[in-house]
Amino acid sequence: MKHSRLRSTVVTLIATIAPAVTACGGGQTESAERREAAALRLYVFDCGTLKADPARFRLKPEEVATTDLSVPCFLIVHPRGRLMWDPGAVPDEDWTPTGAPVTHHLALPDGSERDLTLRKRLVPQLAEAGYAVKEIEYLAFSHYHYDHTANANAFSGSTWLVRQVERDAMFAEKPPGVVQPAYYAALKTSKTVLIEDDEHDVFGDGSVIMKTAPGHTPGHQVLYVRLPRTGGVVLSGDLYHFPEARVLKRVSIFDFNQAQTPMSREAIEAFLSKTSAQLWIQHDAVGNSRLKKAPDFYE
Ligand SMILES: [Zn+2]
Repeated sequence: MKHSRLRSTVVTLIATIAPAVTACGGGQTESAERREAAALRLYVFDCGTLKADPARFRLKPEEVATTDLSVPCFLIVHPRGRLMWDPGAVPDEDWTPTGAPVTHHLALPDGSERDLTLRKRLVPQLAEAGYAVKEIEYLAFSHYHYDHTANANAFSGSTWLVRQVERDAMFAEKPPGVVQPAYYAALKTSKTVLIEDDEHDVFGDGSVIMKTAPGHTPGHQVLYVRLPRTGGVVLSGDLYHFPEARVLKRVSIFDFNQAQTPMSREAIEAFLSKTSAQLWIQHDAVGNSRLKKAPDFYE
């Protein structure tokens, strides 16, 4: 009895340590070498699928290809650092993977409820791609909603890049409706850079730029990544949720500023035309299904 308990403890320990060992590799020298070898990379992680009610987006069920919304998480690897963008809808510790898709019911502080399908936890996906959480220098969200901030606490050791207006709302006495303050509570004391300019050049060489696109939330932003082989990609945040909203010009009923969203869309569309960048609508389940997923990557 005693013996078997010891065995199971050892097995658990090994299971916990193994991904970290793989992710850290041979220590600092190898990490420095890997940095030099690394060109710009963009990883797409599967952080679940959300069941949506199209009416919340002023769309009819017959107007959309699917009512599912994909929830991707992204990692940008640059020779000067790594940026985690939108770390999911459900924290890793809130659910248990089974090997098969898991249905997860979520009750939000405003009384509304959501159903998600989850397949893999985020941190093990990062490890599988070769990265440990402590190796991620920067964290940023397109905006503060629960489905873009879930694993934020895991990255409290990273430098948080955030606009003042978003941070203020997140830590207000009464935070906005669709947020989960517990998901990001640890960021209150994180090293933080308050972004003041409309554009923030993350690594200083013009290849990774956070661009203001307010409306959905007061400090909503999109991320432009200029990849050497793939070309320019703009990660949409929630500028649009469905590709059909882009064509039909529908604004969701819960956008913070309904009049501002079309203006932000116009500015980002002009940027896309000017740069010939692709727009990846993060919640577009059909578009997302065609993307390469980590550990594969775009470069
Ligand atoms: Zn969202």
